[in-house]
Amino acid sequence: MTTTHDLIATRNLTLMLTYRCNAQCAECGTFSSPHDKNDITLETALSSIDWAKAEGMTQVIFTGGEPTLRWDDLVASIRHAQGKGMSTRVVSNAQWAETPEKAAQGIKELQEAGLEEINYSTGDEHVRFIPLEHVLNAVQAAVKAKMPCALMFELRAKSRIDEVELQKRLAALAPEEDMEKYFTFIRSPWMPIRPDNIEEYPEGLYANKSNVAHRRGCESVLSNYVVQGSGKIAPCCGLGMRTVPELQIGSALEEAQDGKNPLAQAIEEGESDLFLYALHKIGPEKIVAWAATKDESIKWEDMYAHRCQACMRIYRDPKVKQVLIDNIQELMAEMVYGGMVLRRFEKLAAEAMNGAEPPPAAPEFSHYV
Ligand code: SF4
Ligand code: SF4
Repeated sequence: MTTTHDLIATRNLTLMLTYRCNAQCAECGTFSSPHDKNDITLETALSSIDWAKAEGMTQVIFTGGEPTLRWDDLVASIRHAQGKGMSTRVVSNAQWAETPEKAAQGIKELQEAGLEEINYSTGDEHVRFIPLEHVLNAVQAAVKAKMPCALMFELRAKSRIDEVELQKRLAALAPEEDMEKYFTFIRSPWMPIRPDNIEEYPEGLYANKSNVAHRRGCESVLSNYVVQGSGKIAPCCGLGMRTVPELQIGSALEEAQDGKNPLAQAIEEGESDLFLYALHKIGPEKIVAWAATKDESIKWEDMYAHRCQACMRIYRDPKVKQVLIDNIQELMAEMVYGGMVLRRFEKLAAEAMNGAEPPPAAPEFSHYV
């Protein structure tokens, strides 16, 4: 069987203990809410970690939903992964850090279980449900405990949260050298899940002819295998991934077959899908732009800042899908030999720039919820 097994540098496991969240952000990338009933059992979580270890994975990322709603199972899973020599990271909305004392106690428990890194999220949507104070408490507790932490800030053109003021409050949480060493502030475009909803972003973030040549492949797909709150396995932790049938490549709830555990089967399934490798190598923005060179009715410029939204376009727009079906060999040839599609993007950029200086490289965006 043709697979891309040797072409992906590293593979990690992402575990969603639950799809539930105490918040209910509009456009939540995982469609989480307090009403979602999808949880995996602790047994499935621990088995998934064992399978990941057997497949040579070295990191487990806990996200959701809000993973800290399953606090005891989260701690047990971190301890299990740590016992197997795997590094661990948690992505949380900081709902548990109601006071500085609770934040410090929470970080202590997670650190004692073996947690090495924690990421938080905030922004206009998040603060409707989780006060900013909880996030600040959580950042301070992590930095004081010398645990690397990052804060993902919803990036849009007009934020109701004053970012300058937020930065000042963050800077006051701990000595400058500790903040520099243990804290990272990351702006990540807040994306609508529907590909035809256009969010307003600061200038320069949208993919268009002038910059699409610089957009990179998706580093998550085929590298980040996700056991979701439903037990289904996906080959990336993309926003909106839950709604794409093609990205559901297995189930942690199935029995092992032919001596292969469910995660190994899902990896085999994912790595035999060359289109996933095209997403990894070429990236969704370039693929949509390439599709538009075949069908001029496909509009894509100045619509997408987050690559997952462009990816949703590929999976949901019948016109883009049809171009792929009709021209899949050209795309595959690009992956094997390189050059043809890339030259087309360079031509698009040259046309758009009309002799002007090329734009700076597009920002890199992470996949967090
Ligand atoms: S974006 Fe994060 S905090 Fe908001 S509902 Fe989704 S999982 Fe919860
Ligand atoms: S760009 Fe596509 S493949 Fe990559 S993480 Fe987003 S949804 Fe998944």
